[in-house]
Amino acid sequence: MEDTFRRQINYLRIAITDRCNLRCRYCMPATGVPLKSHQDILRLEEIVTLARVAGSTGINRIRLTGGEPLVRKNVVTLVRELAKLPAIKEVSLTTNGIFLSGLARPLKEAGLSRVNISLDTLKKERYRYITRRGNISSVWQGIRAALAVGLTPVKLNVVVTRGFNDDEILDFARLAREEPLHIRFIELMPIGAAAASAGGYMSMDEIKSQISRVYHLEPLADLVTNGPAVNFKVAGGKGSIGFISAMSSHFCHRCNRLRLTADGKLRPCLYWDGEIDIKGPLRAGATEAELAAIFARAVTLKPAAHHMETGWRQPRVMSQIGG
Ligand code: SAM
Repeated sequence: MEDTFRRQINYLRIAITDRCNLRCRYCMPATGVPLKSHQDILRLEEIVTLARVAGSTGINRIRLTGGEPLVRKNVVTLVRELAKLPAIKEVSLTTNGIFLSGLARPLKEAGLSRVNISLDTLKKERYRYITRRGNISSVWQGIRAALAVGLTPVKLNVVVTRGFNDDEILDFARLAREEPLHIRFIELMPIGAAAASAGGYMSMDEIKSQISRVYHLEPLADLVTNGPAVNFKVAGGKGSIGFISAMSSHFCHRCNRLRLTADGKLRPCLYWDGEIDIKGPLRAGATEAELAAIFARAVTLKPAAHHMETGWRQPRVMSQIGG
């Protein structure tokens, strides 16, 4: 599918739940966010149907996210069904890693290609503080399990917040040198709880120059796809470092994705309010051709760029959209 701005759309991010087992401070309030009723959330068979339809329109890569995708029952079965779809070349996952150690092997066997794991700190107490409940040891067990079963490349997503974890930038860079891990630094976006609290934002330029003072960074083509990160190898290291600058220099001109929310809405852009209901037509008995036309319409609605700098604020938090 090609959109109005001649971008090829071949990537679908599916939020398979709006529930999360963590309460990261920049993402949501301590009490969480209002959850959809069970009935409002897409059933697993519905997700598979929509993925098959998406495949017929030119989508060939799927990423499962949430909420926390690994809290969804039967996630392994879902991965198995998605990986069987002939048009889908890759099924990947973004997770906080808490439940990954026990699921890494069955997920790999079901056909999962790789994982991105969100980890904003290497410090135990700080991890507990930011997530309000998580145990970093569980995440590390998940990371080790993902490496052991070959869910590679394993990417760690690090949202950098000034005054909170910017003192760990070099520690993460060292990790990328010593371990076969791909550290992706991400700019804090004005979304969720972060939208309400001023401050904290730190640009990728600043993060990169801190690292470049200590490590020699060699430019690298993207590890797998034409994703949003600008990647570098740490000279002599096992892993790599990527910089994702959604705010300071956005990559919307390269955007190749659509999002499907847990409650069955197609979203052409993370940071824009447009969305199209596809669950309603699906449950009303729309044919696969009619559903494919809804995907095509969502693609035509993709804006040229996100609306972060305009002052417009995304009312949903990342876990409601499918971060
Ligand atoms: N539960 C999964 C996880 O933790 O990766 C998937 C959903 S989570 C919402 C996806 C990503 O969104 C996480 O890496 C999280 O750090 C990021 N995120 C949430 N709010 C953000 C914000 N305001 N700015 C940048 N990233 C944010």
